Amino acid sequence: MSNVTVCVRFRPLSSKEKRDLGDNICIQSMDSETFIIKDEKEEGFTFSFDKVFYEESKQADVYEFLVLPIVRDTVNSINGTIITYGQTGAGKTYSMEGSNILESDEKKKGILPRVVDGLFACIKTSADSTKYTVKLSMVEIYMEKVRDLFDLSKDNIQIKESKTQGIVLSGATEISLSDTAEALQSLSSGIANRAIGETQMNMASSRSHCVYMFTLNQESISEKRVKSGKLILVDLAGSEKVEKTGAEGRVLEEAKTINKSLSALGNVINALTCGSPSKANHIPYRDSKLTRMLQDALGGNSRTALLCCCSPSPSNASESLSTLRFGARAKHIKTSPLVKVSEEKCSKKNGDASGTRDESFEKIL
Ligand code: ADP
Ligand code: MG
Repeated sequence: MSNVTVCVRFRPLSSKEKRDLGDNICIQSMDSETFIIKDEKEEGFTFSFDKVFYEESKQADVYEFLVLPIVRDTVNSINGTIITYGQTGAGKTYSMEGSNILESDEKKKGILPRVVDGLFACIKTSADSTKYTVKLSMVEIYMEKVRDLFDLSKDNIQIKESKTQGIVLSGATEISLSDTAEALQSLSSGIANRAIGETQMNMASSRSHCVYMFTLNQESISEKRVKSGKLILVDLAGSEKVEKTGAEGRVLEEAKTINKSLSALGNVINALTCGSPSKANHIPYRDSKLTRMLQDALGGNSRTALLCCCSPSPSNASESLSTLRFGARAKHIKTSPLVKVSEEKCSKKNGDASGTRDESFEKIL
């Protein structure tokens, strides 16, 4: 069993925050794991996480601490999930994509381009007798519907559970990637499609959850074994309370639906962390598309990391506190990462060789 890794990242003050309140911030750093945050009544709350990235932290720092160990695990066929959480404008997409997915400035590159570099770098250094395939699917969850970002006509992708592959996006486009450049182009086209969909639906990107799913298969030619690892990255919708007052029609429906999937996420985390050890606890994964998709990441077969993104401004203290409380609860979740191996078995029947594939799991300690 391993705990979910939870880190916090405070972005620099925005120019609006500086205009409104000068250089005031509501956090006081104690060390690289602990800080105090003051609410609007000046009451202080102390939080500790696996690591706190303050405003001067670099994109590379976040990648190396939070993401690289999970990329290495994926190459060793252990599933991984990386989630960014926080209110709109807190730095989720900046952390995930960078200011631009095709960013050429090394320092500004976000998690995704670094993951792509990391995956292909690990592949390059491994044995010649192994054949690798890397595939990418990209979907968006909006109003409890899953849309394929590589094919906008597929606007109702079903999430299914397969005995051998775990949670799968049934029928979603999978693009085979042969190198970093191809991967970045595919990511860029998915992100562009997301913007097209938003305009069509008159929706802000902060209203939907964006899910990037990499699958890495390794076929050992000599041992006739196929190993596979899945790496899921999720840029969540803004966690702020959506104002329902005055909202009507689609805007009100949207507000309720966004709350539904994020509150379902909160409920799953509560059920996972507050359950009585003596009683089998029902985990309501099926209450939303998001929790269904993250079933493996939350309490299942995955190594999971959560990046809680926050503004350091006193004007956002109450949203930051709610993000930090969410992260503090998530810290108690335990998952059971497994290596999945499928072995080709050859059996001879009436002189014909017929191959069967036998899947097995090896528990990781
Ligand atoms: P979110 O995706 O959470 O809504 P964004 O990632 O779009 O928020 O960030 C909001 C703004 O803040 C963007 O202009 C982004 O470039 C900037 N920003 C966020 N985090 C950082 C950071 N760590 N360093 C510099 N700028 C940042
Ligand atoms: Mg965003």
